[in-house]
Amino acid sequence: MHKRNLLPLLLILSLLASCGQPAARKEDKIIFVSILPLQYFADQISGGLYRSEVMVPPGVGPETYNPTPRQMGNMAKAKAYFANGYLGFEEAYLDKFQSVNPGLLFVNTSEGVDLIHAEADHDGHHHLKGVDPHTWSAPSGARVIARNICKGLSQIDPAHEAQFRDNLQKLLTRIDSVDQVMGTLLNHISSPAFMVFHPALGYLARDYHLEQLSIEFEGKVPTPRHVQQLVEQSKEKKITRIMIQREFDPENAEIIARETGSKVIRIDPLAYNWPEEMISIARKLAGKEE
Ligand SMILES: [Zn+2]
Repeated sequence: MHKRNLLPLLLILSLLASCGQPAARKEDKIIFVSILPLQYFADQISGGLYRSEVMVPPGVGPETYNPTPRQMGNMAKAKAYFANGYLGFEEAYLDKFQSVNPGLLFVNTSEGVDLIHAEADHDGHHHLKGVDPHTWSAPSGARVIARNICKGLSQIDPAHEAQFRDNLQKLLTRIDSVDQVMGTLLNHISSPAFMVFHPALGYLARDYHLEQLSIEFEGKVPTPRHVQQLVEQSKEKKITRIMIQREFDPENAEIIARETGSKVIRIDPLAYNWPEEMISIARKLAGKEE
């Protein structure tokens, strides 16, 4: 009689062992990310198991951001920090974050990306170690970033590794379909050169065979002389659209647009919804959306 009842009991016990551990309270399961697109990838992969906090808030540039005391306090409770690896504010703060939080796992999500190395002096201090930091603004970089985030989450939470890998596969499928849509939009573009205020689309330009011209000069607002050069360049390269990010003053972009008869178009490569923003940028570059 005892034996007969043992099997269901064992089953129940094993179920309790696999998923019945008292779940950590959600406020204890915090991860940090540097920028919103990384938050999107982290949220997709964690599937809501972790509350993600973004360091640089919407509408703010990641070049010179200063973390708040509240963020520093929350970081002490976090399990992992997912960095881009090459952003200006990371250059200033990552070492400090690590020394204050020795138990925190730090992940350079750009590790393994085929990096673009900026020419000497290009873009001033913004590009840490001469690397173009905008690895997330192309599907090729996004795939590597997603894999690195999955690896990091599995390291801090091995019990959920299978779930993270499952979510990673779904995300990679979505990235592939974004890549396909972008390729269709950009591979037969009539004028491959485009102008952008802050050079955030270098990886996109490389992957889809476009040419990025930047209004910002060595990381700074351009001088009137440089603006004049850009006017000439954009006439020569038949540029019809000038992209500008929400963090920047559109004045110089508007001067160039007026003098060349081109349009100023808003983009937001730092948006949270990565698939939507990438397709929107591709549509704008292809002249399908104003
Ligand atoms: Zn940037």
